[in-house]
Amino acid sequence: MRVLVLSDIHANLAALEAVLADAEQFDYEAVWCLGDTVGYGPEPDQCVTQIRMLGATTVVGNHDWAVLGHMDIDQFNPEARRAVVWTRDQLSAENIAWLGNLPSQPLVRGAFTLTHGSPRDPVWEYVLYPATARANLDHFATSFCLVGHTHVPALYISQEQVSSVRALSPAVDKLFTLENSWRAILNPGSVGQPRDSDPRAAYAILDTEARTWLSRRVAYPIEITQAHMRSARLPERLINRLSFGW
Ligand code: ZN
Repeated sequence: MRVLVLSDIHANLAALEAVLADAEQFDYEAVWCLGDTVGYGPEPDQCVTQIRMLGATTVVGNHDWAVLGHMDIDQFNPEARRAVVWTRDQLSAENIAWLGNLPSQPLVRGAFTLTHGSPRDPVWEYVLYPATARANLDHFATSFCLVGHTHVPALYISQEQVSSVRALSPAVDKLFTLENSWRAILNPGSVGQPRDSDPRAAYAILDTEARTWLSRRVAYPIEITQAHMRSARLPERLINRLSFGW
């Protein structure tokens, strides 16, 4: 089965639409969404509607969590707090209910575990280093685990022993084969707010039978998202960062 793997859309509809248009060529049969569909960006309601219409298998992210009121946003800085409250106001009751039903625990689909942060701390932990990836290998039972949250595309591979996890930056458009003997943690990067100095939207195509992973980047009209953020009076820092991918 060919799967479109999305994460951290962050209410960026222009980026999501560019990704969906680009992904059409891969004839995917399923969509897996690793959380943070909302937060930061200007179109939370439209992005949730799109993901629902795609029938995406979706887990909850920390920003979705905040918008649902599951955490105390008084600890947030004023900018972040304002963005959470604004996002909540934009969402239809139906879309809030949908977000509220997303699992906060990892989902298993065949040889793949799906989670937002990490298998041992699904909503919060960032897998940014081989040591963190290695510490998480005991927390999922499948061969492979898909994560988002860092907004940086990455592959963490354990070839034989758990003591040897290595990190790879997946080359864009280079088909990467996951060997049967491996265990791995894979991150497609972020659709709506990339943080690896490349402002293009990131996603991946996973073939669950051929065990291949393809990292993709797509340019999108960043200025449209930024204009919508300005009209919504979202924080300037969040608007500017999209131009640079940080
Ligand atoms: Zn995120």
